[in-house]
Amino acid sequence: MTDPLDKIKPRVRELRAYTLSPDRASVKINQNENPWETPARIKEESLRRLSRRAWSRYPDFVPASLHERLSSFAGWRADGVIAGNGSNELIQALLMVTVGEGKRVLISEPTFALYKQVTTVLGGSIVSVALDEELKFDAAALMKAIETFEPDVTILCSPNNPTGCRIPDADLIALLKASHGLVVIDEAYFEFSAHSVVPLLGEHRNLAVFRTFSKAMAMAGLRVGYLLASPDLAREVGKAVLPYNLNIVSQVVAEVALEMYESELKPLVERIREERERLYGEMKKIEGLTPVPSQANFMVVRSMLDPRFVFKELLSRDILVRDVSSYPKLKDYFRVSVGTPAENDLLLAALREVFERQNTEYRIQESE
Ligand SMILES: *Cc1c(COP(=O)(O)O)cnc(C)c1O
Repeated sequence: MTDPLDKIKPRVRELRAYTLSPDRASVKINQNENPWETPARIKEESLRRLSRRAWSRYPDFVPASLHERLSSFAGWRADGVIAGNGSNELIQALLMVTVGEGKRVLISEPTFALYKQVTTVLGGSIVSVALDEELKFDAAALMKAIETFEPDVTILCSPNNPTGCRIPDADLIALLKASHGLVVIDEAYFEFSAHSVVPLLGEHRNLAVFRTFSKAMAMAGLRVGYLLASPDLAREVGKAVLPYNLNIVSQVVAEVALEMYESELKPLVERIREERERLYGEMKKIEGLTPVPSQANFMVVRSMLDPRFVFKELLSRDILVRDVSSYPKLKDYFRVSVGTPAENDLLLAALREVFERQNTEYRIQESE
């Protein structure tokens, strides 16, 4: 008898499954979610519309009314928009229609693990360029990699998860011009940087942009994301998306969230941006911590204490952060998402306690 697992692609068997620690805590700042719950007015209006909608019927084949709202929200033509069951679904769809054996995908690491995961499952190979010493994009090294390896797809997350750096437009334009392949920008966190590369779509037919409702839009539980690209490219990517990928609940809530973005969600995004700067400033004052400036709703923090120790100390105080110490270049770092002001105060108090105690113990040992 043969082992059924022998039928799995060898490169898939070598992969470690994409997982997340199942820990739970009252202050949950490990997944970059919006710390505030979806505003009540969005929920109420969505429920009202949903109760009138036939649940027994399939969703629209093309969610045209959502595409229209996404089009005006993003400032890009509706025939170049695809809504998906989370942006991860669309990242997978784009890679499915481009990647196979012998295809190369260029990424910049550390970054979101999914790009490498999906590329590998599809049989493609990864070309990886490291972020520079300041944990920013190394535009010169990316350019060199494009010229040397001629990647079929380049995927950059900007602002980057987990480091929060953004690729400057001038560098991106140079990469778009030099690249014979597609250049994909994952803008999951663009709302927190108040900057988007969408204005470049008109000029560059090899650019595709991904966005999500899971972060600024406070809808991670409903799974909505979208792709913005030239209509020709969007049509091809759409061939790998399953029919009725977006359920009616997600579709309706996404429409309401877009209609109410300015009044209900944007003020929350503004507060998160302010809190990010406060959190950065306060962490900087703690001896043993060096936070890295970020354009997103999270930041990595360099720690003199082992990040796994800090993770456990915080968890014992009911605070869940992300241990990123196994990522390339981040051995001494952990990542925190920006919480509500009260959550950030709890985090700061806990960090002061952990680091001050350690600093005191360290000094006592030194003087003995
Ligand atoms: C959170 C996140 C997403 C969102 O994925 P969804 O499937 O839309 O929830 C996409 N890209 C990155 C880099 C993220 O961090």
